[in-house]
Amino acid sequence: MRLLVVEDDKELNRQLCDALRSGGYVVDTAFDGEEGQFLGETEPYDAVVLDLGLPIVDGITVLETWRRGGRSMPVLVLTARDRWSDKVSGIDAGADDYVAKPFHMEEVLARLRALIRRAAGQSTNEFVCGPVCVDTRASKVTVDGAMVKLTSHEYRVLAYLMLHKGKIVSRTELTEHLYDQDFDRDSNTIEVFIGRLRKKLQVDIIETVRGLGYRVVEPDHVA
Ligand code: CA
Repeated sequence: MRLLVVEDDKELNRQLCDALRSGGYVVDTAFDGEEGQFLGETEPYDAVVLDLGLPIVDGITVLETWRRGGRSMPVLVLTARDRWSDKVSGIDAGADDYVAKPFHMEEVLARLRALIRRAAGQSTNEFVCGPVCVDTRASKVTVDGAMVKLTSHEYRVLAYLMLHKGKIVSRTELTEHLYDQDFDRDSNTIEVFIGRLRKKLQVDIIETVRGLGYRVVEPDHVA
């Protein structure tokens, strides 16, 4: 899952990015409203953390511009403590949730998990398909209850496909949602990860849809 963090406080920005990366996300970062707005308009994100008090363009304007332009990714707004009017304007501008500063990183992570799964129509943090279970709280994968050790890249591929279970996900989409903007993308590597995942899971839940991409389906439905 790929996230964008727009926060002008350099230290807070770094703390957020570190926590999110440790949580298994890839993260792009912006330090002002103009850069943040541009990234949100041009790159596909699974969720955005947006500070409201930003230089050049303020957070509310950024959010309103995204929504007017049809960008519908979940947005978690960071508001100043006790500024209830910030929360109201944030939600009116199209925010999906907010966290007041100062906050605990765990709360931000929990709220993002909820926003991402809800946007994909999932009701819990555990994505299940046949004997395979991806626990996004712990970033753990089990098959029939037994832990399967995956690299962070393999985990990201599987978690993304499981989040969108039943839907065809193209290689381009996978690449765009698994790497940050600076990564040298090569869609062939996705095939390698899929191959390794199939071997490690030892159960066929990842279907290759010729010319279109991949789809997670219940084991007995794999074509
Ligand atoms: Ca700020």
